[in-house]
Amino acid sequence: MAHPSGQQARLDRSPLSRLAAVAACLGRASSSRLSWKSIADGMDARRCPQPHLIYCNMPTTKGSCHCGQTEWEVTTEEAPAHVLCHCMACKKLSGGEYTLNIVVPSDDCKVTKGELSKYTYKGDSGNDVICYYCPNCTTHPWHHQTVQGNKYVVRSGLLEGASEFSTAAEVYGKDRWSFQPQVAHTFPVAPPS
Ligand SMILES: [Zn+2]
Ligand SMILES: [Zn+2]
Repeated sequence: MAHPSGQQARLDRSPLSRLAAVAACLGRASSSRLSWKSIADGMDARRCPQPHLIYCNMPTTKGSCHCGQTEWEVTTEEAPAHVLCHCMACKKLSGGEYTLNIVVPSDDCKVTKGELSKYTYKGDSGNDVICYYCPNCTTHPWHHQTVQGNKYVVRSGLLEGASEFSTAAEVYGKDRWSFQPQVAHTFPVAPPS
């Protein structure tokens, strides 16, 4: 994978200039929040705004809605892999048999164009589930199950390259419809946590 900024060429340089390259890669992150050790170890790669070979190998993937009014970016620790959710809420909200999802820290989900509206319902736990959607076309990039803390369930099927992602698991297999084949390890409800 070619890096758009050419950081790969910097990998042959001295340790100090490699540190500088990583610091540059961290870009809009606040460098005051990073220790030099964490930069040296590449440990704060979560803050990297773009994929950085070796040091910050976290891919950022773009998504967009049907009408084009909203766009977003999601940064993940590794290549996204779909989790199929067969629950009844997903069926209602999507109009399909299942949805495709990845779970991502909310800080790593950014709206890059337009603004999202919200729809809130009570999840199985009794806590709020906040669904974010394009106010014009209703495409739904992610939802926030507040019981899970600062993580969003991102609709991975809306991300660029989604047809190439692998499948990691299926959840709510108890609600799978009979015509739908199993494609990954299936949990009857959600995995134990
Ligand atoms: Zn839209
Ligand atoms: Zn679901």
